[in-house]
Amino acid sequence: MGKLGLGVAVGCAVASCAIAAVVVGRRVRSRKQWWKVVTAVDEFEEAASTPVGRLRQVVDAMAVEMHAGLASEGGSKLKMLLTFVDNLPDGSENGIYYALHVGGTNFRILRIQLGGQRSILGHDVERKPIPQHLMTSTSEEFFDFIALSLKDFVERKGDNLQFSQVRGKDLGFTFSFPVKQTSVSSGTLIKWTKGFAIEDMVEKDVVECLQKALSRRGLDMNVAALVNDSVGTLAVGHFLDKDTVAAVVIGTGTNACYLERADAVIKCQGLLTTSGGMVINMEWGNFWSSHLPRTSYDIDLDAESQNPNDQGFEKMISGMYLGDIVRRVIRRMSLESGIFGPLSSKLSKRFVLSTPLMAAMHEDDSPDLSEVAKILEETLDIRDIPLKVRKIVVKVCDVVTRRAARLAAAGIVGILKKIGRDGTGGIAGGRIKGIKSGKMRRTVVAVEGGLYTSYTIFREYLNEAVAEILGEDIAPYVILKVMEDGSGIGAAMLAASNSARSVDTVQVL
Ligand code: ADP
Ligand code: MG
Repeated sequence: MGKLGLGVAVGCAVASCAIAAVVVGRRVRSRKQWWKVVTAVDEFEEAASTPVGRLRQVVDAMAVEMHAGLASEGGSKLKMLLTFVDNLPDGSENGIYYALHVGGTNFRILRIQLGGQRSILGHDVERKPIPQHLMTSTSEEFFDFIALSLKDFVERKGDNLQFSQVRGKDLGFTFSFPVKQTSVSSGTLIKWTKGFAIEDMVEKDVVECLQKALSRRGLDMNVAALVNDSVGTLAVGHFLDKDTVAAVVIGTGTNACYLERADAVIKCQGLLTTSGGMVINMEWGNFWSSHLPRTSYDIDLDAESQNPNDQGFEKMISGMYLGDIVRRVIRRMSLESGIFGPLSSKLSKRFVLSTPLMAAMHEDDSPDLSEVAKILEETLDIRDIPLKVRKIVVKVCDVVTRRAARLAAAGIVGILKKIGRDGTGGIAGGRIKGIKSGKMRRTVVAVEGGLYTSYTIFREYLNEAVAEILGEDIAPYVILKVMEDGSGIGAAMLAASNSARSVDTVQVL
């Protein structure tokens, strides 16, 4: 080899060493970054973990807080509101009834025909968007719009014949905003939420406002029941199955209600009901306990929310928030490593990743997780990430959803514990080994809301956790039943069962 040849050979060797060093350096760096990401996910999973022992602590805390909220006004973060619903529909109701459901940007008008013997002969629903400008207008304009829409619906359904029957005129009203109920068919608005701001309505009786609008529009109907969505769900659950004792809504937000003994409502001494019971609206979204597995992502989400220190349980469970928790975890991983490419500005936008999109990534069963790749690209501007990183994203979705579903399950068992339907001795009793299943009564919980009805993995995790907490002796006695559209139909059924009684059956001495 000549001098030139040697020089070239040495030069090549140096160059390839340098390239090798760069490659190795990159590999080491990428391995380090990968390790950081795996550690971040492991830490998150640990902080968000819900072993059955912890869930049982949440069950106990829920039952104790329920008790405290019933003992005194402001005694707990759980408001435990009286609904004045003392009798639930029992299936004997019959006739045609209407209901209105005002709960968010859409409202629904419903018509049901009940045939007695737990039968629903007909059922029509119409959804209508509420025009944006009406959400901040006056109560008169707002309710005029509702009354007109109802009138149009009633006329189209052609129930003129039935209108001669008194029962055909009864209307249920589901109003999913905080209301201080004063009877089963009256209540004042405490405050608006969800973007509504019709100031002249605050502290007014919402039924009175609706009733006046109905008269202005010449609609001779009577608002016989004012309920929130969880109470509506309990009503339809009870209509279909008399063993239904509680209802849970898990949609954009979350709430629960249940049938309580009137004498257990200690804060309302002298509460008399003909049935001896009363449906309690727990407003459980605001539940809090130190046993809840809270992570740094939850703390940040709460601090940046419109209502810090409020609705803590809801922020871990409901559809409004789950996608945003996942976004926060991906953002942290992206900040700490380069595996998601350059930091996307979209990752800093709150609520950019909705829960249905998160669920679609979670449920992606394609071999290369192409749906995950598509959603990351379209929603978060994250492109060309390898399969192992997509798998990490699915893992994060799983951790968030599993925790949410299992905590909701613990909440449900907490209610059962409070009313002595969980197979233990109630609040005072501990867990009894070898329970006699003969002592257990069949117990049904009605469940409504998009997260439970449309997100299969969420539903499966929730069902599984309820069974795990209760144990194999008790679990077969507890049934969770889906009630789609339950809140609206239930209000119509309550209108039916309340119109059947002409006297007020609840007395507060
Ligand atoms: P709302 O609570 O507003 O009355 P729904 O009960 O229909 O409405 O629930 C809607 C919520 O449920 C959405 O905000 C969304 O978070 C969640 N959701 C709906 N569909 C799905 C889905 N396929 N996967 C996951 N979450 C869903
Ligand atoms: Mg709803």
